[in-house]
Amino acid sequence: MSNRTFTMIKPDATEKGHTGGILEMINKAGFRIVAMKMTHLSPAKAGEFYAVHKERPFYGELVEFMSRGPITAAILEKENAVEDFRTLIGATNPANAAEGTIRKKYAASIGENAVHGSDSDENAAIEGSFFFSQLEQF
Ligand code: ATP
Ligand code: MG
Repeated sequence: MSNRTFTMIKPDATEKGHTGGILEMINKAGFRIVAMKMTHLSPAKAGEFYAVHKERPFYGELVEFMSRGPITAAILEKENAVEDFRTLIGATNPANAAEGTIRKKYAASIGENAVHGSDSDENAAIEGSFFFSQLEQF
């Protein structure tokens, strides 16, 4: 069981001014922010981050969306972080997201769904180091 996960507040949520509201939900759920930055992914970087979805029909749309504006990337610490954060963000499609989840409150659609959360301990470590050096993790 890992105690760290990785998240991004996606361009849709940034555009709508939901960054503060989402960070508040993350803190209230007991996660400690151990690294954080605002940045703007190039299409190449967004494509690299989501390379696992390269063969999926929505890949082009996903890359275009993730590179259209700034995001906030962060590493979060909590016991059972990966699983508990997936619970906090809710289902990929906000129509199926449970009450009280970040996507239920802030996501517009299956594509523009406000936040990313790592799906395994291994991917949390890979994704965290995609954005942050060891010197930027506290
Ligand atoms: P994330 O990895 O961003 O946390 P997830 O793990 O809930 O999301 P994935 O299956 O990994 O879902 O899909 C990655 C992202 O690709 C989704 O969050 C969404 O932005 C986009 N996506 C997934 N399915 C679709 C779809 N059917 N149509 C459009 N975009 C989609
Ligand atoms: Mg995923």
